[in-house]
This record gives sequence, C-alpha cells and structure tokens, in this order.
Amino acid sequence: MFRFSFSSKSNADPSHLDVQHQGQIFRVAFRRRSTARKIILRVSSVTGEAALTVPPRVDVATAQLFIEDYGGWLATRLARIPERIPFLKGAVIPYQGVPHLITHWSSSPGLTQIADRSDGAKILAVAGNEAGIARRVRLFLHKNAQKNLEEAVQYYCAKIGLQAHTITLRDTKSRWGSCSSKGNLNFSWRLILAPPVVLDYLAAHEVAHLREMNHSPRYWRLLNSLCPHVEEAERWLKKNGTSLHRYG
Ligand SMILES: [Zn+2]
Repeated sequence: MFRFSFSSKSNADPSHLDVQHQGQIFRVAFRRRSTARKIILRVSSVTGEAALTVPPRVDVATAQLFIEDYGGWLATRLARIPERIPFLKGAVIPYQGVPHLITHWSSSPGLTQIADRSDGAKILAVAGNEAGIARRVRLFLHKNAQKNLEEAVQYYCAKIGLQAHTITLRDTKSRWGSCSSKGNLNFSWRLILAPPVVLDYLAAHEVAHLREMNHSPRYWRLLNSLCPHVEEAERWLKKNGTSLHRYG
C-alpha cells in the first residue's frame, strides 16, 4: 500500500485525482500552490476542466477526502457544460456566424475552401489525408481570422489616424482582445467563428485603446463614434461568447 506523507514535498503530488459518483469517474487536476490558504475546487465553464488547488501543508489523502464529497456537485456542473466539437469530418462548426459542415472533398492535397452544397447547405471542404483535417481546418480559420482582423484594424486605425504595432492571434480564454501600451493588439482566433460584426467590433474596441488606454466615458464615446454595432456585438458576446470555446 502506498502511504501519503504529510510533508509538503510537491514531487510526490499526483497530476490529478479521480472522484467517483454514481458510476461515473471525474478527473480533477491537482495543483499545489504555495500561496493557497485553503483547498479550492473549481470547474472552468469554458473548458469543463475541474481543478483542485491545494495549500502546501495539506497532504494528498486529505485532498482526496475533500473532493469525495463533491462527486454530485461535479456531475451537476459538468452536465451544464456543452460538449466539445472537434474539427472532424461531419462536424458542424460556425464560420462567420453561419453553421458549416466539415467535408472531405479529396484525399489528394488541395485547398481548404467554403462552398455551397447542392441543397444549399454551407460546407467547409477540406482536402488531403484524413488525419490532417483538424489541423487544416484550424489553419484555415486562423488565416481568415488574421486577414479579417488586419483589414478591420487597418480600417479603424485610418479613421483615428494612429497605427497598431503588431496584430497577434491567440487562443485566450478570458478575453477576446487586448491592446498593450506599445500598441500591440492581440485577438482570439475564435472571433472568426462569430458573426462578422463581432470581429469588426473587437478590432474597433482595441484600436480605440490606442488612443484611450482605459474604459472611461471618453473611451466609449470614441468607440461608439467609430463603430456602429458596439451594443449588438457586446450583446452577442455576452450571450454566445462562451460557446465559441467548444470548437476544435
Ligand atoms: Zn477594452
């Protein structure tokens, strides 16, 4: 039998703990934190990942006992998180706010492209070996997100007579865009999944920060004078933003 020691040695820590509840097993990431004061269990509403933060002096057996009580809670929380949709043949994903069916049109190398099927359905047609479909869908979305964001940023920069330094795409979980004091703009590539007004709004939002590095009334006045769909895009993101993290 393995005995858990009461020391705070983190090299004995597991990567995760398992919790059983009514025949289901939930995996909870184990995170030792020197700054933690108590045991905290969290579930990300974006990724569905469950994680347990554990202070230095709490041993693994105590942490396990702690989460045993939360099996039902984990089941309820995780049931509310929508299932992930991988970029595979047959999956339906939004592209610029419109559902597109991922199809595999040829095993030979070829372009990834948007097309209309004879019945009017929108498809995202991918070529090449089937194992590479997910990677090529992701590349296609990245490329188009970058292109559309660059165009929109350029448009709004011209309007206020300032220039952005760099435009970088990331897969951020907590925000859709950001602007550094050096004029570097960052955006989530997932904005290409949302309706075009949302991507356009995010470009305007970050460009407006090139002039006003805050969210003051003056900032919002500037943004509203630049972009006609601030409210519409904000409303859409509030309602649907989290769902964009399901894909891929
Ligand atoms: Zn902002």
